[in-house]
Amino acid sequence: MTIIYENTSISPEINKRLWEMPKVEIHVHLEGATDAATVWKLAKRNKVTLPAATLEEWQGMYAFRDFDHFLDIYLLATQCMQTVDDFAFMLNRFLAEQARQNVRYCEVFLSASFILDKFPQDEVIAVFAEGIKRGKEKYDIGLCFIPDIARHIPETRYRVLDFILEGRDAGVFIGLGLGGPEAGYPPELFADVYEEARRQGLHVVAHAGEVVGPESIWGALNKLKAERIGHGVRSVDDPKLLEYLAETQIPLEVCPHSNYRLKVTPLDEPHQIRKLVDAGVCCTVNSDDPPMFSTDLTSEYLLLAKQGFSWIELWQLNRNALEASFLSEAEKVKYRAEWDAFYAMEK
Ligand SMILES: [Zn+2]
Repeated sequence: MTIIYENTSISPEINKRLWEMPKVEIHVHLEGATDAATVWKLAKRNKVTLPAATLEEWQGMYAFRDFDHFLDIYLLATQCMQTVDDFAFMLNRFLAEQARQNVRYCEVFLSASFILDKFPQDEVIAVFAEGIKRGKEKYDIGLCFIPDIARHIPETRYRVLDFILEGRDAGVFIGLGLGGPEAGYPPELFADVYEEARRQGLHVVAHAGEVVGPESIWGALNKLKAERIGHGVRSVDDPKLLEYLAETQIPLEVCPHSNYRLKVTPLDEPHQIRKLVDAGVCCTVNSDDPPMFSTDLTSEYLLLAKQGFSWIELWQLNRNALEASFLSEAEKVKYRAEWDAFYAMEK
């Protein structure tokens, strides 16, 4: 079964606009943005054994049964990323892919809990600094990183924070995130490290309300003081929460294909973002782990167009991503001018 309205055709004009419009992406994981063939290549290079005899078999394993199955594959993929050069390679591919879609600025997650023991921190930070420089010089793309704690290894949380602080001083990292399995690892477990991160002046965000219901989002808001919520789609189950999100305009980083592929959203239902937008919640559109979910940022907008979102609504979602980003006001002014110029041309 395919995603509802996925096969609906849309006008060539809308298709072209969505590809060409300047975009911001604020919820995408570097490791998850690495395609199956690249992971396979890294596995061979680093002599990591994957539970598949051929590349085709490995690619076939990307048909996920649910979130836990996805996480198993994601963790296997991260094990193949062994050297600083691997990360440089992944970053180059990521930048080329974002440039292809006219993504002008991205805030990218790193699964920091898995990086800590692999290489000296300063070497990793140098690679990301180089990636930022290359993004600017070669593609004119703004780039920064938000390392996250893997929830199922909470004992890594302070080491992740130290890593972030070191990278912040090098101008590479801007905040702290929380990823991994939501069930069994509620936000409350991380209240201490989030408090310290905020005290240190870092931005804080958290995945919540993807696999677990509204209580997880309330926890991320009240206990972690998250400035943005990753996914948050389960807030549709709690009218009070919807009201709170609409009133505060705390942005949700919505990733439609990810939700369908991991069965967070039933395939025969329109995505929850319709209800969220109608309730006045500030939503942004993102691709999460694009090649793992056979998507990219543009395809996320295309899917919403097929599910009935108008051009004006899609454009507003795109503007929301710019405003919800952690760019400085001066940088936002610069990007807004670019956005306005595109919009004026398309009117
Ligand atoms: Zn995510």
